[in-house]
Order: sequence, then structure tokens, then C-alpha cells
Amino acid sequence: MRLVMIGSGYVGLVSGACFADFGHEVICIDKIATKIESLERGEIPIFEPGLGPMVQSNLAAGRLRFTTDFTGPVAEADVVFIAVGTPSRRGDGHADLSYVHAAAREIARAMQGFTVVVTKSTVPVGTGDEVERIIREENPDADFAVVSNPEFLREGAAIADFKRPDRIVIGTEDPRAEKVMREVYRPLYLNQSPLFFCERRTSELIKYAGNAFLAMKITFINEIADLCEQVGADVQKVAKGIGLDRRIGDKFLHAGPGYGGSCFPKDTVALVKTAQDHDSPMRLVETTVAVNDTRKRAMARKVVAACGGDVRGKTLAILGLTFKPNTDDMREAPSLAIIQALQDKGATIRAYDPEGAEAAREMTSGVVFGKDPYEIADGADALVLVTEWDEFRALDFARLRGRMAQPLLVDLRNVYPAEEVERHGFRYVGVGRKPID
Ligand code: NAD
Repeated sequence: MRLVMIGSGYVGLVSGACFADFGHEVICIDKIATKIESLERGEIPIFEPGLGPMVQSNLAAGRLRFTTDFTGPVAEADVVFIAVGTPSRRGDGHADLSYVHAAAREIARAMQGFTVVVTKSTVPVGTGDEVERIIREENPDADFAVVSNPEFLREGAAIADFKRPDRIVIGTEDPRAEKVMREVYRPLYLNQSPLFFCERRTSELIKYAGNAFLAMKITFINEIADLCEQVGADVQKVAKGIGLDRRIGDKFLHAGPGYGGSCFPKDTVALVKTAQDHDSPMRLVETTVAVNDTRKRAMARKVVAACGGDVRGKTLAILGLTFKPNTDDMREAPSLAIIQALQDKGATIRAYDPEGAEAAREMTSGVVFGKDPYEIADGADALVLVTEWDEFRALDFARLRGRMAQPLLVDLRNVYPAEEVERHGFRYVGVGRKPID
């Protein structure tokens, strides 16, 4: 099949490369010419494990192409996916749909013959109706169907998630579009990934409901962690103890500095806004958003408390900046708010991240970036582990201790058992484990 992917970011690029890998003919479009030029050379503008070789092999096989031009590719496509960004709109927190609407207009002007237009971007309920209206307004004779097909991949594990998803949700009531979408995803259900068909509005809401539920689960365990510190319980064990119950499950029960990233923060707020607009407020999600917002600066206060109540003039070494490991995505990363709060209290910040430093440099000021954990630990008063990259899981504490002014680890991801770190003469402070002495 001939597929077009509009937007070659985390979702568009991964989906496009995976569809090409399954044998479809894919053209990825983006409006940023420099991005397209580097992709044509096989250079990947983002860090996503396994994506480089997959793009390069499909480019070489001629199944994957990149362009900034809509006209030819859209005219020839069976299916056009919209995978552009839907960030929070400045001012009111609603999803900003201007990129989706712009893409719909461009598609409308270029489409020829029956075309299935698929919103893969995360879009509020009713966006499919609006995309349909825009296309009809722009090109009244067009023969098309608008389908919702939200994406559930996780950055850092995107290829595996795309190729072996728990489910593929497709929202359409058009039998022609359903047939086309079955064909698009046929290679995936050979991997036994179930296709779940439903109405377009239902599909749009499934994506938000899923993200809000996961955000709520994280926030729940974070509040339990705070309680653990007050009552002398261990959140790791509470999480294990409840997670073994299959009705609850063990995923998304890791206490930490609060959720971040390019999806949960904006999608929870957008759902709250949609619900308010429909006079059906979602108080649980509203509270989740509020609790998570306060958590990041609360983590900075935890660091300050661990440092004896004052960090003015102290040097803090931050391990990990991205919102989670195995990505270079710094959007809404908790590290940003934590660093800002620590700088506000007078600390000097050094930081290291395997992939996120370049983006972090643009989003912070006054931070000194180092090339590894040991360099930034030089003379530091505390190490603060913010993102649990694999390379932070087996740190050489003897070596770190020799370099640091104070041997203190604040482990905001509970990577280490306290005893292991304390054995090397460090003081250890985790999340939801025991109160700071
Ligand atoms: P992104 O910012 O990485 O990529 C979006 C791309 O679209 C950019 O390269 C931008 O230049 C391009 N673009 C915007 N308008 C365009 C236009 N009119 N024509 C051509 N290109 C255009 O965004 P992303 O992280 O890939 O997210 C895309 C959508 O997928 C969002 O709605 C997001 O919520 C959703 N989503 C993201 C993830 C994730 O993990 N990143 C997971 C699931 C769903």
C-alpha cells in the first residue's frame, strides 16, 4: 500500500519506518526542510534505539522516502496519516490543533481518488469531525474518509511498541475505510496484535482516557511514597505488594519525581479542558495534574532537606535530564523544574545526560554540563539521580566518593538499595523509603 506520513517527529518517523519495514511504500513529509534533508541522508534527528538502521535499510530498499512536498505523494496515497504535534495551547491548556488543521488543508488540496485520512496525532474528541469539515470545505469533490488511529508507542521502546502493540485502536464507521485499515495493519496482526474497531469519537477518547489513567497511577504511587516517608513504610514494597494483584498490575507504580514528557502533561490538561467544556468535570484528573505540578519543586525541597536545609553556595550534580531513559526528549522533563528550584535556592548545578544534554542546554541557564557522572561529581555536595539511565545503575561509588565534597546520593528513582550505597560511606536518600534524618 502507499502510505504518507505527515509529520516526521517521534511518532511519524517511527510509524513510517515500521510500516516500510513491513513492506508498505511510505513517504514521510515534514515542513522542516533541514530535517527532511538529513533524513534523506539516513541521519536521524532524534535518539530512538534501533531507528537509525531501520530508516537506512528501508531507504536503501526504496520503500521509505522523505520530502517536504505534499502534492505528488498525497495524490498517489491510499492512506495519509496526520502525525503532527498537538502541544498545549498557550494560555488555556487546550490541545493546539493548528498543525492538524493546516495538515488537513494541505491534504485536501492534494488528494485524488478515494483516500483514507488518519489522525494518528493525539487529538480531542470531535477533531475527526473538524478534519472532515475542513477537507470538504477545501475540496468539495474529494472522496475520502477520516479515521482515528491513536498511537500508543513509548519513546525509548518505540519500535517494539509499534511492531508489537497491546492493541491497535481504529475509530471509523466507514466500511471502505475499515477495509483499508485492516490491510494497513495486516502485517501486525500476524504478530497477534488485536485490532479494536470502534466509533471515531470513542477512539479519540480512548487515547486520552488511557494516558490520564496511567498519569493517575503514577501520581497515586507518588502520594503513597510521601505517606511511606511519614509512617516508616517502604514504597517499593507497597508497589510490589499491590502490583502483584492482577487487577492492579505492576506497571506505572514506580515512585519518582512526577511524570513529564511530551504526552502525559499536555494530554491530562487537554482532557480536563474537554471535560469542563462538556460540563462533565474530571476531578480525579484535575487533581492528578495539580499534584504532579507541585511534585517537581517538592523534589527540589527534598534535595535541599537532604543537604541539611540549605544549598546556597553548594554544588549539586544532576544525573539524567530527559523525562525518562533511552530518549533525548526533554519536553516537560521533571529535571527542568527541579534544576530551576535548586538554582532559585542558590545552588550551582552540574549535569550529565547520555542523550539529552544538547536539548537541555537550550532549556536551562547557568548549568555546567559534563561528559560523565564522575566529571560532574568533582567537588559536588550531592549527586541527584533524576533519570534512571542504564549507565547510572552500576555507578562506581568508591570512585565517586573520592571526588565529592560530601558523599550524598539523592536517588529520585529508587535505583539503589540504601545499604549498597551506604556501604561506600555515602548518605542515601530515596523516595518513599524512610524520612530524611
Ligand atoms: P514531534 O514534535 O516530534 O513531531 C511533529 C512533527 O510534525 C515535527 O517534525 C513538525 O515539523 C511536523 N509538522 C507540524 N506541522 C506540519 C505540517 N503542517 N506539515 C508537515 N509537517 C508538520 O511530535 P511527536 O512527539 O511525534 O507527536 C506527534 C503526535 O503524536 C502528538 O499529537 C503526540 O501527542 C502524539 N503521540 C506522541 C507520542 C510520543 O511518545 N512522542 C506517543 C503517542 C502519541
